Amino acid sequence: MNIKMLSTGLLMLSTAAVAGSGHEWGYSGSTGPENWAQLSGDYAACGGVNQSPVNLTGFLEAELAPINFQYQKGAYEILNNGHTVQVNYKPGSFMEIEGQRFELKQFHFHAPSENHINGESYPLEAHLVHADKAGHLAVVAVMFTEGSDNEGIVKAWQQLPETKGQKNTLTHPISVNELLPKERAYYRFNGSLTTPPCSEGVRWYVIKQPMQASMPQIKAFADALGHPNNRPVQPLNARQVLQ
Ligand SMILES: [Zn+2]
Repeated sequence: MNIKMLSTGLLMLSTAAVAGSGHEWGYSGSTGPENWAQLSGDYAACGGVNQSPVNLTGFLEAELAPINFQYQKGAYEILNNGHTVQVNYKPGSFMEIEGQRFELKQFHFHAPSENHINGESYPLEAHLVHADKAGHLAVVAVMFTEGSDNEGIVKAWQQLPETKGQKNTLTHPISVNELLPKERAYYRFNGSLTTPPCSEGVRWYVIKQPMQASMPQIKAFADALGHPNNRPVQPLNARQVLQ
């Protein structure tokens, strides 16, 4: 996957459904995940061998450097694109890993989780989508178990867009730090966008320590979409998951 295509992937990830561009796709029926690769030539990567999400298992021990998270209170708008609820982020927040800087563009949610860990699904998963200057993508994933309210989600859901196409400007800035646990050890693998165009070459960092969200918070998200938004797990094939 070249750089230009990855940039296009990010653009589509953030704007496609709202702008109405690209072929319609969904999570069930004739436009469901098993048919994505056939819906459009632009979605051919959905049939690739390095796809996300995956069941993270069979870990390979590695010396993984800590991620340096430098996040500001940069969330400024929240939108419902029919596929997820997404919070867009102002420039200036980033993570650094292996000497590379990836700027946080947006975060969004999936219920139930897309990735599984040792075969276990979670009721909610957050994806923090980053890009470097060349357009290479890096996604930090955070799992949520059912428990107490997450304070970041409390703030975001105060302005939850409850219908497809709705976008609200956040009146109180939110920091994505509120979605992250203190302990930030992670699993690492290479994968793809989990939605069409399913572009590969995406670096995935799945935080080991889950967070908590309350059942009403998870239900509010599911109700805003009206359907589950998890692509089924894809085969690891030749890939290994590092820890
Ligand atoms: Zn996602």
